[in-house]
Amino acid sequence: MSRFWSELARGLEPYVPGEQPKVADLIKLNTNENPYPPSPKVMAAIDGFDLENLKLYPDPNCDSLKQALADYHQVERKQVFVGNGSDEVLGLSFLAFFKQAKPLLFPDITYSFYPVYCKLFEIDYQQPPLNEAFEIDLQAYPTDNGGIIFPNPNAPTGRLLGLNEISTLLERNRDSVVIVDEAYIDFGGESAIKLVNQYPNLLVVQTFSKSRSLAGSRVGFAIGDAELIEGLERVKNSFNSYPLDMLALTAGVAAIEDKTYFESSRQKIIDSREWLVAELEKLGFDTVPSATNFVFSRHPKHDAEVIFKELRKRKIIVRYFSKPRIDQYLRITIGTQQEVEALVVALKEILGAAKKTKSSNVSTRIAETLV
Ligand code: PMP
Repeated sequence: MSRFWSELARGLEPYVPGEQPKVADLIKLNTNENPYPPSPKVMAAIDGFDLENLKLYPDPNCDSLKQALADYHQVERKQVFVGNGSDEVLGLSFLAFFKQAKPLLFPDITYSFYPVYCKLFEIDYQQPPLNEAFEIDLQAYPTDNGGIIFPNPNAPTGRLLGLNEISTLLERNRDSVVIVDEAYIDFGGESAIKLVNQYPNLLVVQTFSKSRSLAGSRVGFAIGDAELIEGLERVKNSFNSYPLDMLALTAGVAAIEDKTYFESSRQKIIDSREWLVAELEKLGFDTVPSATNFVFSRHPKHDAEVIFKELRKRKIIVRYFSKPRIDQYLRITIGTQQEVEALVVALKEILGAAKKTKSSNVSTRIAETLV
């Protein structure tokens, strides 16, 4: 704590991202990145980029990327906003829509950046709890609110809500902005983008970090009514005119245009997820149904933190949250098929070793009593 920090800086509780290890040959299943490289068309577009252009500022309006996204999602360009990763799009949205007299609503177990933005922007919030099955219960959300945000599918649980439930919420909440954070929607859900023309208070946020393998480029976007987008542009242009650099724009356009690659890489991840879920079940894990590129899993007989540490010793990193309700769960990103197979081998070893120590303890105790 420095005496030079503002009172605001002193009070912050910054988001802690998953580890980006510097050591080689780790199996990295901790931050929900895509294990496959970006589309070859992205590589070609970057290769073809004339680096001399970097002396100029990029397009402040990011029109090429907005147009590519508008064509892909069949909306108008003025319904599209882009930003430096969806985290930035979300942060700007909190400022544009959620700084209200009434509290913002989001689930008790959800993306942990939301309360961080609330602290930074001094936004009051309430957290209706997930039900016992870890589902978001939208019926429990009071209509008297300053906005609603939730990821669909939710993170870190992986559970998906259907569009009918989202429509019902929107019908009941016509006077505040509802943001659906669809960071993981491409791994098994139906996007609420198809509802934006019906509900002027709906903003859908997505990212290129997961299904498009571009976490390192930081490309995120939002789609909604043109007036919502204009509100976001006002905030963005009061903060940073050029959130996306030229290389990110080039990569983003090429990624959105390569539908074939996108389909095949997301299908590989879905297949590996289904394989992993079945293997985890054989090992006795309970896994929350997942529509994402990760699974949220617990073992009724083995402590999650112990498994997390044992995996780490074997050079496999997953995510462990030491938080109420979820401290017995591990969040495991779906890697390549080879990576998830290596994970299963390691888990078998860890659970097997734990059993052996337990039984050898018992036999030692029996031996001791006999002496
Ligand atoms: N929303 C959710 C639910 C996430 O899990 C993440 C990734 N941590 C993001 C948004 C942000 O993704 P990015 O900034 O990489 O687009």
